[in-house]
Amino acid sequence: MSQRLLYESHMHTPLCKHAEGLPGEYAARAEQRGLKGIIVTCHSPMPDHFSESVRMRPDQFNEYLALIAKTADEWRGRVEVLPGMESDYFPGMESWLEKLHQRAPFHYILGSVHPQIKEYAAKYFNGDWHEFHKGYYNQLALAAETGLFDSLAHPDIVKNQGSEFWNVDTLMPDICRALDRIAKAGIAMELNTSGLLKVVKEMNPTPAIIREIQKRGIPMTLGADAHEPRRVADKYEEGLRLLQDCGFNKVSLFLNRQRQDIAISDALASLRH
Ligand SMILES: [Zn+2]
Ligand SMILES: [Zn+2]
Repeated sequence: MSQRLLYESHMHTPLCKHAEGLPGEYAARAEQRGLKGIIVTCHSPMPDHFSESVRMRPDQFNEYLALIAKTADEWRGRVEVLPGMESDYFPGMESWLEKLHQRAPFHYILGSVHPQIKEYAAKYFNGDWHEFHKGYYNQLALAAETGLFDSLAHPDIVKNQGSEFWNVDTLMPDICRALDRIAKAGIAMELNTSGLLKVVKEMNPTPAIIREIQKRGIPMTLGADAHEPRRVADKYEEGLRLLQDCGFNKVSLFLNRQRQDIAISDALASLRH
């Protein structure tokens, strides 16, 4: 059996109120899939009741860490269970997130702009979908420039809002300007396989964007964004092949917030069904 190399690097817990299954069930699926571990990245607690119906409350943060630590003990020697976070970014959140990220020895922190959150849309949607899509890319670049995150999650998820107005060709000059800033910031971007389940049924981001990411030497991480155990490492093989088709020969992951690059050929060989 070839060596276990990969992690589920984007997964949730019931604390966010829209995911099911305990981390131990995700670890069991990870073991079946030939993964080395799981990095639990539940949605960050936020101040002022920001979208509180889809995330843990600030006072549940210790419960989150305890759940991960308990699961790590139970799976020690079989599947690594590591603490991470999917942190919501929009301008003004910098100091909240900086403090939050210091509260635990996180291995990996995803930075997410979530345009589907109604509080976000209320702030940034002015009735013009093209402007909304453009503004999302400016915010992704701002997120990268904060230095708070390791990788930017699902970096074209905005196409599911106002999808009839989404046009990647028209938007490409703005996307490329954002990618130039992201490359300069030295952060990774995520290929997220859960896009296949959304309104626009393709992984996030779309291949045309992956090629622009590759041209700029921005590393890419891989995650299934599992909100239920059976989706751990879902479509990883397809995602890795898509990265290859777009010119990548390595996929990246973060441990102790340090990037590691893995040959995609080795990553593919390590997976089990
Ligand atoms: Zn979620
Ligand atoms: Zn997300």
